[in-house]
Amino acid sequence: MAEKTESTVPFLEVAGLTKTYGRPPVETHVLRGVSLSMQEGDAVAIMGASGSGKSTLLNIIGALDEPSGGHVRFEGTSLAAMGERERAALRRTAIGFVFQRHCLLPQCSAIENVMVPCLADRNRVDEASQERAERLVKRVGLWERRHARPSELSGGECQRVAVVRALIRQPCLILADEPTGSLDRKSADALGDLLCELNREEAVALLMVTHAESMARRLGRVLVLEDGRLEPSQEKSAR
Ligand code: ADP
Ligand code: MG
Repeated sequence: MAEKTESTVPFLEVAGLTKTYGRPPVETHVLRGVSLSMQEGDAVAIMGASGSGKSTLLNIIGALDEPSGGHVRFEGTSLAAMGERERAALRRTAIGFVFQRHCLLPQCSAIENVMVPCLADRNRVDEASQERAERLVKRVGLWERRHARPSELSGGECQRVAVVRALIRQPCLILADEPTGSLDRKSADALGDLLCELNREEAVALLMVTHAESMARRLGRVLVLEDGRLEPSQEKSAR
């Protein structure tokens, strides 16, 4: 295998990002110049008080929302230079989202939910995707529960399904917005461990918003969003 060379272009580059809601005189400057760069496979935690703009930032990086100023570039290509079709393709294939609430389809089983993103381009699931879904469902310990519907699964199990769904199309980045926020401590720790393990096993970069300091410290880098800016945490990373 060819040796991996250090790329000069970061895989994700966020530069001088601003976001203002409202209009003068009632404006909220949520992001006031956020910069961040990530290399392939990096794991970064974002902490910050409620209302500090963490979800706003993730939504902009994930091309779900647009900034007021600044840039987000994936492998050197600016999101602003992409058309809506290209942005949608990026969301479908390059980025996996995990939210605080799992947003699984209630009428579908766990394994069906996992394969939903595969249906976006064609109306059927190819064999390779089917195999990947089965492998990942086994990997997260849900093989026995694969035919259960979300209402029959625990909160932690639903979030594990949501994680597999986020990974199914082999994205290069997982954006996780307080993925453990609605779970009890034990399930939250387990899900955090799982995300860290999958970050390495599946070679997918992870950008995770979390309130749990212990979880954040398990990631490579911890940043804090405060007053519209992203700064390194004073706490040392455990990794
Ligand atoms: P966090 O995820 O850190 O709790 P958010 O990004 O959800 O913070 O919100 C940051 C701030 O922006 C909050 O003050 C929130 O009320 C405001 N905000 C978020 N979305 C909108 C919107 N669509 N319109 C107006 N204000 C918004
Ligand atoms: Mg939020």
